[in-house]
Amino acid sequence: MKTDVAVVGAGLQGSAVALRLAQSGKQVTVLERSVPGAEASSAAAGILSPGVEAVERGPFHALCVASLARYEAFAREVERASGMWVEFRRDGTLEVALDDRHAKVLAGRAERLQEAGLGAEVLDGAQARRLEPALSRAARGALFFPDEASVDPRLLARAVHIAAARAGARFITGRVRRIVVDGGRARGVEHESGRIDADAVVLAAGAWSLLVQGHGLPAGAVRPVRGQIAVLDTHAPLLHRVVFGASGYVVPRADGRILCGSTMEEVGFEKAVTAAGLRHVLDVALEIAPSLAAAAVVETWSNFRPASPDGEPILGAGAVANLYYATGHSRNGILLAPITAEAVAAAVLGAAPPVDLAPFSATRLGAGRGRGEAPDDRT
Ligand SMILES: Cc1cc2nc3c(=O)[nH]c(=O)nc-3n(C[C@H](O)[C@H](O)[C@H](O)COP(=O)(O)OP(=O)(O)OC[C@H]3O[C@@H](n4cnc5c(N)ncnc54)[C@H](O)[C@@H]3O)c2cc1C
Repeated sequence: MKTDVAVVGAGLQGSAVALRLAQSGKQVTVLERSVPGAEASSAAAGILSPGVEAVERGPFHALCVASLARYEAFAREVERASGMWVEFRRDGTLEVALDDRHAKVLAGRAERLQEAGLGAEVLDGAQARRLEPALSRAARGALFFPDEASVDPRLLARAVHIAAARAGARFITGRVRRIVVDGGRARGVEHESGRIDADAVVLAAGAWSLLVQGHGLPAGAVRPVRGQIAVLDTHAPLLHRVVFGASGYVVPRADGRILCGSTMEEVGFEKAVTAAGLRHVLDVALEIAPSLAAAAVVETWSNFRPASPDGEPILGAGAVANLYYATGHSRNGILLAPITAEAVAAAVLGAAPPVDLAPFSATRLGAGRGRGEAPDDRT
């Protein structure tokens, strides 16, 4: 079988890149070992916050801002194409200080944000509580990022998959064993039940990217970092916007559910919701809004962030010709999906990227061939 582009993995990144490539007229085949979107992309909280997640100014912050700027149009586009609602909400993000230490950190950041002319508002405790009346009375102050947003990633991942399929991308169930590399160029993929020749390959296998032979990445370029989430049901919504504390966050959904997250755990691929993980996320939520104590816990889960060593994504071309990356998105893969799709599709098509991809190239993570990478392979 032959295709123009083979995409490994149908998480949000793989499906979004496939959507853009299919729209450009390419024949795209996406290989997914299980259910499209069912891993990290469905486990995320859906926070879209450059202000809290990319504190230092620089290329990563600019990438996050560029992706947020595209989000509303991206969400509306996939809603139209899929017929689904993805719960994109631009209600802003609050980062609240509940103790003196965090208040000091926020005050320092507020100064830098104001110097840089970035759109953050500095609130005292009373002002923060006027925005969110359920906030703890311990709130000493807050940063408010009014232009930030959230989305329901489970709905979004499903909608993008449907949109990509309707644009012509073909989705095949099957685990990719290796990327076929011959003469220094990627030539296709070998999966459980066959081989697909391709002019280009996009690796979008999330936390599992280094388990695909021939990945061409340095050792340690992507590792799993487990995150746990508990969902509370407050019926009538108790909170209206994303609220960060010092060690976690709460994310409201329109139907009154509140996601409480998360943990950052180096436990390999052990998928589990643990007593300590639950205690952590529920402690964070109750510190932020004590009245959540009465809410029912209705769901819990865990999954794996595809973490890169510097927490920034791996995008575009690397050391192997015709092999492209859309992986390593760490804590911000939902936020970065629109810009990833556009930038990686541009790289594959040989078009000008919407942002300079050099800071996100795999080569920044170290030269040389990583462990697990297949040598040239002519079978
Ligand atoms: C608890 C938690 C909370 C998070 N919260 C946020 C948030 O609020 N905001 C935000 O922006 N980001 C958040 N993230 C991060 C975000 O979820 C990820 O960065 C993003 O989903 C990565 O997308 P992906 O498509 O690369 O990975 P995935 O969604 O994991 O997709 C990878 C896909 O590849 C498939 N695959 C793997 N190996 C193979 C193979 N060999 N062959 C075929 N298919 C394969 C998998 O089955 C999977 O479907 C959170 C993550 C977690 C775990």
